[in-house]
Amino acid sequence: MKKDALVFAAHPDDAELSMGGTIAKMAAHGLKVGIIDCTKGELGTRGSAEIRQHEAIQAGVILKADFRDNLNIPDGQIEVNRENLLKFLYQIRKYKPKVIFAPYFNDRHPDHIAVSTLAKQAYFYSGVGKIQTHDNGHVQHSYRPSALYYYMQTYEFQPSFIVDITDHFEDKMKSVFAFSSQFFDPKNKEPETFISKPGFVEYIKSRSQVYGFKIGKDYGEPFLCEEAIELDIISKLKHH
Ligand SMILES: [Zn+2]
Repeated sequence: MKKDALVFAAHPDDAELSMGGTIAKMAAHGLKVGIIDCTKGELGTRGSAEIRQHEAIQAGVILKADFRDNLNIPDGQIEVNRENLLKFLYQIRKYKPKVIFAPYFNDRHPDHIAVSTLAKQAYFYSGVGKIQTHDNGHVQHSYRPSALYYYMQTYEFQPSFIVDITDHFEDKMKSVFAFSSQFFDPKNKEPETFISKPGFVEYIKSRSQVYGFKIGKDYGEPFLCEEAIELDIISKLKHH
């Protein structure tokens, strides 16, 4: 049951757009990564919840995610409340991830902000045994991950670190394109949205290039951590 990382996302395709390369990289190195989507994305202008669910499964397979789950919270109505916090605690205590990923807390979409807040609360309260959650009638053991990392969505931040995704950039883009109902397609006559504009895919590519360039690589994905990150000065100086 134990996983290495859990990625919390508000909508199917959020994880791919923001950290698909990092997920593919972790999986390629044998790490077990789970993606937890909070909603089915049923408010999306294009496609339907069923189509997006199918696309999400395909995208997870492309990235070689260990599993993908959905919390079935209504799209556009993710609230920071006890009920949703307990759903997050359940997932963290069930999978005992070493680290969790969540949306950056300052964002254009209220659902992203809510997921960020829920993840931060769960990061702490998952370790508080007196807040009980149950699995098959048994009280779950308290468990606290060692880190919470925020990924970048619409608004930018000064990264705490950048992951080199050069070898996994193609998989990232393939996983993004798995959500074909959402992106630019000249044949699709549904209304245009923020992400279905022809330039959106170029924007995702350019952002990966910008953050890759900052670390001297072709492609990169940025992350923010509110806590200090140790630098192993010895391995840096001896092995680089
Ligand atoms: Zn989203």
